[in-house]
Amino acid sequence: MALFSPWRADFPALAVLEAQGQTYLDSAATAQKPQALIDALGGYYTCGAANVHRAQHQPAERATRAYEDSRIKVAKWLNAASPTEIVFTRGATEALNLLAYGLEHLIGAGDEIIISALEHHANLLPWQQLAKRRNARLQVLPINTAGRIDLAAAAALVGPRTRLLAVSQLSNVLGGWQPLDDLLHLAKTQGALTIVDGAQGVVHGRHDMTTLGCDFYVLSSHKLYGPDGVGVLYGRGESLLQLRHWQFGGEMVRIADYQHAEFHAAPLGFEAGTPPISGVIGLGATLDYLTGLDVAAVERHEQALHDQLLAGLAARNGVRLLGSPQVALASFVVEGVHHSDLGHLLTEQGIAVRSGNHCTMPLMKHLGLDGATRVSLGLYNNSADLERFFSALDQALELLR
Ligand code: PMP
Repeated sequence: MALFSPWRADFPALAVLEAQGQTYLDSAATAQKPQALIDALGGYYTCGAANVHRAQHQPAERATRAYEDSRIKVAKWLNAASPTEIVFTRGATEALNLLAYGLEHLIGAGDEIIISALEHHANLLPWQQLAKRRNARLQVLPINTAGRIDLAAAAALVGPRTRLLAVSQLSNVLGGWQPLDDLLHLAKTQGALTIVDGAQGVVHGRHDMTTLGCDFYVLSSHKLYGPDGVGVLYGRGESLLQLRHWQFGGEMVRIADYQHAEFHAAPLGFEAGTPPISGVIGLGATLDYLTGLDVAAVERHEQALHDQLLAGLAARNGVRLLGSPQVALASFVVEGVHHSDLGHLLTEQGIAVRSGNHCTMPLMKHLGLDGATRVSLGLYNNSADLERFFSALDQALELLR
């Protein structure tokens, strides 16, 4: 059945890309942007840029108000208890690095930091380097064949030396929801702090921080149809109090003298220097746009497209799906075909998918692969996009096999 996205026209790049012969199927890397965001960015720059939290003049007041309004919108989107639980960063990666430095003082020699085998490098390397700095141990939770963290193994690994548990909500390669409730509960019973990498999970459905129960949650705006250069660190009120400051500079300081300084609490104390003002305002406008959509209709559309994607892959000989993805993405390998050759031939036919290690080299190694091809869909994709992909895939495979 042909599926048409009623939201496609809200994203002007889709028509431009189509006119260029490009089929965009790489939304898990970064999503295209709605007109509402483009208008908000244009509006901010056209009406007068100004720095936030500093000057008293009218443009600065307007920029500060819009910036702080975005904080309120993000807090509502995540159902945080207060906007003060929202820290703006430059992305999920920066938010995770902030945590790895901000929590460093809690980690001693022999302590344990636990991640999982499927983490993106952004949720592996900051913890690996922290463990090295503190002589701590990085423990890795195994995953099962469906691509989910093995809970029995987790119960055996999480123990009294566990200080931090940092896991993804949804893998960017395998696309499966992780059993967060159980994992977070396990960590909590041992008094560990919990960090959830929501970079992929936040794009699908709404997630409620008051019920999720993690200490920290990170996301990148650009995957959620917002601008790049902006991320969010959500921190539960009392958990934020555990963070030490990590970047130092303008507007994060309450009192500064040559030899001494006192810093603001969160959020401002963790937003040193001029923040990505236009991006934060743009994220707010994007959330306004997303709030206006019928979430159930978006989910139905993505699910129907995903079914077509999985059925099409399953119908082709030698194509092996990785894991069992639950959201609109699929990573696969083809017997006897190298992912980079396939990626090359798909690119030549105007198909924008991603072939490579997906910033998960250890996961690829664990799966016995050096890479895979990933198709990932946004709410703006139509089934015609998938038809173009499959016809390009068939042509590429004919050449390669
Ligand atoms: N975690 C996951 C699961 C991701 O997919 C990504 C982006 N590919 C990141 C973290 C890092 O996001 P960013 O590059 O926007 O900081």
